[in-house]
Amino acid sequence: MKPLNEYKKIVILTGAGISAESGISTFRDSQGLWEQHKIEDVATPEAFEKDPLLVWKFYSMRRLQAAKAKPNLAHLALIQFAKAHPDVHLITQNVDALHLRADTTHSLPPICMHGSLHESSCSNCGIVYLDDYAYFNELGDYAPQETELCDSTQRSHQHYLHHYNLEYRNFIPLSPCCKVMIRPHIVWFGEMPQHMEKIYHQISHCDLFVSIGTSGVVYPAASFLAGAKAAGAHTVCLNKEPIPQAAFIDEFIEGSATDIVPRFFRI
Ligand code: NAD
Repeated sequence: MKPLNEYKKIVILTGAGISAESGISTFRDSQGLWEQHKIEDVATPEAFEKDPLLVWKFYSMRRLQAAKAKPNLAHLALIQFAKAHPDVHLITQNVDALHLRADTTHSLPPICMHGSLHESSCSNCGIVYLDDYAYFNELGDYAPQETELCDSTQRSHQHYLHHYNLEYRNFIPLSPCCKVMIRPHIVWFGEMPQHMEKIYHQISHCDLFVSIGTSGVVYPAASFLAGAKAAGAHTVCLNKEPIPQAAFIDEFIEGSATDIVPRFFRI
């Protein structure tokens, strides 16, 4: 492999493994149960239809867990690298906002293909709201301004942590637009990931593709290594264990993210 600074366009894909050492459980490591729930009971559109309150409570727990976690050395190493390299792009399957929180200088805005724990949307028309709305509207002491919608980056971490602790609640608010249940703005199993056109464009134009902490079994992200390889990129996988896409990986580096990511991206 060439030195990193000789690659023109670098695309990085991250999965749950990069946040594992921040204390956020991956799905694959949990033997079919995710925080004691079967995935089909909490992370599918059918689950929300059947038992919306169970799904809402599951995501309330995950919001609080993510808000309490801190970005680790792997998240920080990607930001340091992006500051020194002109053309790096980050695609993440994670919904925990740790990439955003690591990026205080706005050097590496992530494309969040599976949504964000900090946003909710109207289950009828899809308009996206900051979770502040979901938590505060019922109390009658918070109403989002038009400009605040969809811009979770303007919210500080302290803001979230403070309010999730205070208002860790078990109700499902109604959306202000259609007056129907609001839902977590998360791409559930069986739903279409977000920003796919932009993602495919990035992948087909990169000359280095690096996959970090993802099991390679959740599609379409699982096809990105093959796509990058077909586009002529050098492909690297950093993970705790081998993944099924071996045929499309030029270089596999095994280990824990906080160890191997800073070593790989040191400049
Ligand atoms: P996954 O759980 O399927 O796989 C995680 C991978 O990371 C595994 O291959 C595992 O070996 C590896 N891993 C675990 N700990 C690691 C470490 N310390 N260092 C390096 N690698 C490590 O996760 P996925 O591939 O991202 O797909 C699961 C889906 O679940 C995604 O859609 C994702 O959005 C969602 N999810 C997100 C989060 C999060 O936001 N942090 C957490 C769990 C699941």
